[in-house]
Amino acid sequence: MHERLDAIVIGSGFGGAFAIDHLVNAGLRVALVERGPWRDTAPVRAAGITQRSPLPHGRHAFTHLVRRVSAPFLPARGIAPHAHGLFDLHLDRDMSVVCSSGVGGGSHVYTAMNTPPAVDHYWDNRADGIDAAAMRAHCDAAIARMGARVTPTGGRIPNATADRYANHPLFSAGADQPAMSYDYARDAHRDNAIFGCADGSKTTLDALLVAPAMQRGLTVLDLHEALAIGPDNNGGWRVTLRDHRGGGYRHLAAPRLLLAAGTLNTLRLLFESRARGALGAMSALGLGFGGNGDSIGYWACNEHDADYSLGAPCHGHFVPRGVPAAAPLMSVGLNGIDALPLPAALRRRLKRDLVLVGMGADEANGFASCRDGRLRFHYPAAANPVLARMRAAFADVARVSGKPVHTLARFPVTVHPLGGARVDDNPARGVIDGRGQAHGLPGLYIVDASALPAAPGSPPSMSIATWATHVAHGIARRG
Ligand SMILES: Cc1cc2nc3c(=O)[nH]c(=O)nc-3n(C[C@H](O)[C@H](O)[C@H](O)COP(=O)(O)OP(=O)(O)OC[C@H]3O[C@@H](n4cnc5c(N)ncnc54)[C@H](O)[C@@H]3O)c2cc1C
Repeated sequence: MHERLDAIVIGSGFGGAFAIDHLVNAGLRVALVERGPWRDTAPVRAAGITQRSPLPHGRHAFTHLVRRVSAPFLPARGIAPHAHGLFDLHLDRDMSVVCSSGVGGGSHVYTAMNTPPAVDHYWDNRADGIDAAAMRAHCDAAIARMGARVTPTGGRIPNATADRYANHPLFSAGADQPAMSYDYARDAHRDNAIFGCADGSKTTLDALLVAPAMQRGLTVLDLHEALAIGPDNNGGWRVTLRDHRGGGYRHLAAPRLLLAAGTLNTLRLLFESRARGALGAMSALGLGFGGNGDSIGYWACNEHDADYSLGAPCHGHFVPRGVPAAAPLMSVGLNGIDALPLPAALRRRLKRDLVLVGMGADEANGFASCRDGRLRFHYPAAANPVLARMRAAFADVARVSGKPVHTLARFPVTVHPLGGARVDDNPARGVIDGRGQAHGLPGLYIVDASALPAAPGSPPSMSIATWATHVAHGIARRG
């Protein structure tokens, strides 16, 4: 790469991809550093990307499912079976975290729900320079860009809760169904959710934002992992990269560096770079971590002639009839199970059960720490009443249906980790200011879920996109 860069973005999920889109539109020369590969999907092929890596489908499940596993009983940085793996699993006592790897970030594994924060006032009074009305407009624009819409009723989309529970004696569909970025007009309605979507029926950010930005000058360094960041001699920021394709290491520098590696990996980068003395005190690093109230249950309903693996990536909300709902739950089939090499009998059984997902604004009162390279999440589950409400909702479903809902109540897991490098005007409480810039470190910005000031209580992708849009607009405006 010879030309001078205006900005480097690390990570291409909801924070990175939305920031890139706006920066490139504003005419900035941007390089994207993404540790994962381009995924081999129909829209990525159509975009002319030649070096692609399979989703973990069929025999590729053995090699491409897991990128890294970290756990207290493993070496500090975990084990990394395959640089092309899709999932990054961080197992911890208080809170385990699941995220993913690849150009497009979490959009490959998400269930495509793209919704605003649960409360209208989410962005009010967060920090100087954040205009709540402008944030609502950014959120609306992001949802429109993602083409999200509520599942149509009428029985054409298999297992949609609005149809399934329309006249059901025990359950009813929730009033507010989530909008999804999914092409309901397709016929297959299979293999489109957490193991990736090869046919493009689910909207992913690689095809929607990253590949088009390349046409406008974006440089993409896929399979390049940022290992360290720090100030550059020329007054900007320098990133040390590991090249997972060609091997070896390289450096990039630019006046602006935007971190968008996702909560788990942005925090890891910040902690490790701070330990090397590159970031000053950054005393609020790790504060305000939470899991967005995520609660996951396995409803062993074993419904006779059901195939719950079919449908949109998420079936929608539902509540038991006749009891005050503790919380609406989302019904998710094991969509994608056909793509995994499993014994036929097990696959048949799994298709008759459902995964239940609940979430709500938790207190984001946990914290992350890092000692000798080992990242840990500390999360006081008992001090987060939303989790008890979710447990009550699971119990209601089990009681009303007479079928068990299994949970890992003692081992909270989140797919929505957030905070730890949150926005707050006070450097003792937050890592970044209302422009997204790290306190006392001009040119260093954070645009992913780690920057969120609180739990949105809804699927967070559009709150992250809103924040990234706000930060990128500010950078473009200030020049
Ligand atoms: C199974 C599942 C289902 C979900 N469903 C939904 C849903 O329906 N709706 C919703 O709103 N949210 C959903 N989420 C959550 C959503 O995916 C995340 O909140 C979102 O992707 C976070 O965006 P981000 O920009 O913070 O990070 P990510 O999207 O995680 O992107 C981070 C990117 O940075 C890359 N990266 C990491 N470290 C480095 C490094 N050192 N160098 C270079 N690159 C690096 C990663 O490979 C990744 O591509 C789901 C998550 C999971 C796991």
